Amino acid sequence: MSTIHTIASNADPAELARFNSLASRWWDENSEFKPLHRINPHRLEWIDSLALLAGKQVLDVGCGGGILAESMARKGAKVTGIDLADKPLQIAQWHAQGQDVDVNYAKSSAEAWAGQHVGHYDVITCMEMLEHVPSPAAVIQACAEMVKPGGWVFFSTINRNPLSYVLAIVGMEYLMRILPRGTHQYARFIKPAELLAVANSSSLVLQDQHGLGYNPLTQHFRLHGFMGVGYLLAMQKPLQAQVPASQNS
Ligand code: SAH
Repeated sequence: MSTIHTIASNADPAELARFNSLASRWWDENSEFKPLHRINPHRLEWIDSLALLAGKQVLDVGCGGGILAESMARKGAKVTGIDLADKPLQIAQWHAQGQDVDVNYAKSSAEAWAGQHVGHYDVITCMEMLEHVPSPAAVIQACAEMVKPGGWVFFSTINRNPLSYVLAIVGMEYLMRILPRGTHQYARFIKPAELLAVANSSSLVLQDQHGLGYNPLTQHFRLHGFMGVGYLLAMQKPLQAQVPASQNS
């Protein structure tokens, strides 16, 4: 059985309380977590197609109840999931044990975990989490520190513009009621250029990107080219540090 370690930091207590209160329904595919269940096969196949998960050391940051973490372990990856909310972590552990899937879960922020895991992971995933933290830049930088040269970091979050406000908040939370009210705060949405600026300055290089599309009639999600609302980025840390052109000649 895995141990849950405790390390504190960059977090919004109200967000963690909300995820704690919902945690018991994490694996109910018709609950508030339906979107994560529906998105998961698509993001998993995309991650696997780029990073070839089997045998890789993987860290899932903000793993919640373990939907992505567990599915990556089933692909043969050695997965650690970290989160700062206790109840989702307990649910994640309980579910993995019940399914006989081996995932290591720990209570930690990305920043604190980075202290002991510099250059440690082949693959890092941080999905639907950055829009819930006060300082997403600190999380992105921590992920960049923890990935090995040549390794992959995958982010997904929500763009910030009038359309994303209408679809992700008004549509999802008020009209279709797919997510509980208060799930997302518009001010915490992140433009791809903002995420990229922090990632690039932490020496991550963009390799692939997709928008996340939702069809309210079929209730299906898919990856597509429009990044105006939900989106996913695949970044890689170069094998060798980039040498400025002036020093290269
Ligand atoms: N990544 C998962 C869960 C997304 S829900 C998935 O896509 O399936 C967002 C998760 O982020 C919640 O479990 C919440 O507890 C966690 N979280 C929020 N702030 C965090 C922080 N500062 N550090 C670690 N986890 C955090």
